[in-house]
Amino acid sequence: MQITKHRVAAIHYTLKDNQGNILDSSEGRDPLYYIQGIGNLIPGMEEGLEGREKGEKFDIRVTPEKGYGELNPQLIQKVPKAAFGGQEVRPGMRFSTNRGETVTVTEVDQDTVTVDGNHPLAGVDLYFEVEVVDVRPATPEELQHGHVHAPGGHHHE
Ligand code: ZN
Repeated sequence: MQITKHRVAAIHYTLKDNQGNILDSSEGRDPLYYIQGIGNLIPGMEEGLEGREKGEKFDIRVTPEKGYGELNPQLIQKVPKAAFGGQEVRPGMRFSTNRGETVTVTEVDQDTVTVDGNHPLAGVDLYFEVEVVDVRPATPEELQHGHVHAPGGHHHE
């Protein structure tokens, strides 16, 4: 059975950047289960997985445009240190804004803190090594919920 719209696929993957650094991997964990064609994965991954079958191993290269987007300089902002209410702030720390966005602290000066609201993988070329371990049709309930149910997926109480 091929991976195509509204089918559930289980994949093992290793994600590297263009220097070969491993950014993420499913190795040693359960495979990633997702529903093809409804935006569970970034567009470049869905394109690269379309038509593939159980047992296939291959690489997918994803450009920022089909991954997490280009770096948006407007999402990099300086805010007064006072906005953190005396809390210790260091580069690399992540905060949720009151608009529900996640920002990463990139620089801390005397009075200002630079925060970056770009996704950590924005502007990065991504290289996925993928192995398809299972493909099956999604159930009507999974399609309604937009996620995969157990085993391997979402568990409801
Ligand atoms: Zn559900």
